[in-house]
Amino acid sequence: MPKKLVLGNWKMHGGIQANGDRLKRLVAGFTTREAHCDVGVCVPHLYLAQAQEMLKATSVRWGVQDISTHEEGAYTGEVSARMASEFGVAYALAGHSERRTYHGETDEMVAAKVARCLDVGIVPVLCVGETLDERERGETRQVVERQLTAILKMRPTDDARRFVVAYEPVWAIGTGRSASAKQAQDVHAFLRQVLDSWSSSLSSVAILYGGSVKASNADELFAMPDIDGGLIGGASLDANEFLGIIEATQPHTVSQS
Ligand code: PEP
Repeated sequence: MPKKLVLGNWKMHGGIQANGDRLKRLVAGFTTREAHCDVGVCVPHLYLAQAQEMLKATSVRWGVQDISTHEEGAYTGEVSARMASEFGVAYALAGHSERRTYHGETDEMVAAKVARCLDVGIVPVLCVGETLDERERGETRQVVERQLTAILKMRPTDDARRFVVAYEPVWAIGTGRSASAKQAQDVHAFLRQVLDSWSSSLSSVAILYGGSVKASNADELFAMPDIDGGLIGGASLDANEFLGIIEATQPHTVSQS
């Protein structure tokens, strides 16, 4: 069975001192757990050099929360995938719901970001998920399928194999209200089916769950057959809590009833 993957999304939090403390505690705590999963933290661009310096000799990887749709040019304020790759970035989030909502990112823009990452060898983490209204209207599958296939249509499947999907119901992000393990598993199984029907070479694509994951609910979520790990926002800012989530990726005995 492939290792699970746990990624932190620090959002726009942190500072040199706080990051340093958090990373030191994470690295010290992760040393004993590293066999069980892959771990990374997606930091604000300004702190990439700090993350690289502190993590380069460890098993913890680092990533960014967004990159430009463009390769290079007159795009004030943007950071390209190539620039991120110069700092050893392993992962880049693409299409996080906060980017889709506050920055008007469309499926086409997200697909371009995924493509830019693949071009330079960064693993894109494609975020998909429905709003509460969409869930209540019974449109969850339709929404996540549209968001996922917008990317698949743009890339040959050989390339697409190198990305990660994160199912993040918008109503669960930062609200303290996680999807239940069953709700998440249902959507993950559906996403797996969409990937499989697109190409058998996509069957190994990891599908992470994100949305109010904490050490206390991670066990149950990670026990689900189609949940390959987590994308963790708020809880990744607390090293102990994040380590507790990492710990939950160990083989365990939670019942799946
Ligand atoms: C996120 O930002 O991707 C996220 C899942 O946030 P939180 O864990 O805080 O809900």
